Amino acid sequence: MIIGVLGARDEDKRVALTPKNVAQLIKLNVSRVLVESGAGKRAFFKDSKFQEQGAEIVDRERVLMESDVITTVAIPDDEDIRKMKPGTVLLGVYYPLTEKELVSKFVQAGISSFSLDLIPRTTRAQAVDVLSSMATVGGYKAVMLAQIHLPKFFPMFMTAAGTVVPAKVLVLGAGVAGLQAIATAKRMGAQVSAFDVRAAAREEVLSLGAKFIEVEGATDDKGAGGYAVEQNEEFKKKQAAAIRDVAVNADVIITSAQILGKKAPLLIDEAIVKEMKEGSVIVDIAAVSGGNCELTEPDQIVSHHGVTIIGYCNLASTMAMDASMLYGNNLFNFLKLIIKNGDLNINMADEVVAGTLITHEKKVVHERIKGLVSTPV
Ligand code: NAD
Repeated sequence: MIIGVLGARDEDKRVALTPKNVAQLIKLNVSRVLVESGAGKRAFFKDSKFQEQGAEIVDRERVLMESDVITTVAIPDDEDIRKMKPGTVLLGVYYPLTEKELVSKFVQAGISSFSLDLIPRTTRAQAVDVLSSMATVGGYKAVMLAQIHLPKFFPMFMTAAGTVVPAKVLVLGAGVAGLQAIATAKRMGAQVSAFDVRAAAREEVLSLGAKFIEVEGATDDKGAGGYAVEQNEEFKKKQAAAIRDVAVNADVIITSAQILGKKAPLLIDEAIVKEMKEGSVIVDIAAVSGGNCELTEPDQIVSHHGVTIIGYCNLASTMAMDASMLYGNNLFNFLKLIIKNGDLNINMADEVVAGTLITHEKKVVHERIKGLVSTPV
């Protein structure tokens, strides 16, 4: 079996597998690994490093036409899809809950696609959970960006020239990214408060030494696989008031509230930004799904009412080396589930495999996606 590593054509600096993963794949008796020339360059994994571990460096066309399994960090475009042979297995993150047209294209081209953003959030799936890996990078980097743009220190200092008070950081959304942001801001000496609609998040926030903002009456759906659900209007009003009170005194707000497959909830409107202290910084990790702040612009740093608002959509790419290492390890762990004796073995009895397979044998096979895609299947 031939495994391919396709480079990203867009701004994404990450690569889907690293040289270490190539060596691991060869030990799994995979016959060849084809890496697109330059695919790892922007993450500082040179072609020569892939070659040293047994990969062949080839052009994009050969990766697309010869590979049985193609690993990606970016969504392949129409030209890429046309060049893949029917039956090719694609492995990456394709957002099938919103990218319905792409799913139809996979069906038409006879591509078997595994989209790891649909990974079940179970203990067993942790080793392949790219969402958690990338959220960890995003949460950390968001705090670093906030510090760079904040005209103040994070920790408290007692100096001969006066006392520096610690920065106040508010984190909205305490999933993987939010918890990493809390831990990072705490390590840097900030005073941290956080809020999440899921009851389970409270304990996690407190265990990191942050203050939890209490708002009664959130809808917490146990059937949503651990994900948050949309809240009713009454709760949204209570939540807005509680957030406002803390937000206007914060130096930094990190927002990471998301709802799987939906637009991110609006938590910081312009009125709150207007009341915030001049010089404050908002880093909107949810920018990729519409943003939690009304004034966020995707992939831009903007300033409104004296507040800097950062809306980078792919924070993981800004730390491409470690992000690729984590992503590559997740993909390798997934490949171990679908490779047996060097050949492809799609075991639908495995909930991690079945939970991520979107299209197979010219059909949409994922229950949740079936109803969303209109292509005759
Ligand atoms: P996510 O990126 O989907 O959302 C980020 C956070 O935003 C979530 O904590 C969510 O509750 C919160 N949120 C949504 N709407 C909100 C609102 N209106 N106000 C405030 N907060 C809001 O989340 P994620 O990091 O992908 O985690 C999703 C779930 O999966 C969590 O329950 C997490 O603990 C769980 N998880 C489990 C595993 C595992 O067991 N393998 C791994 C990672 C995550």
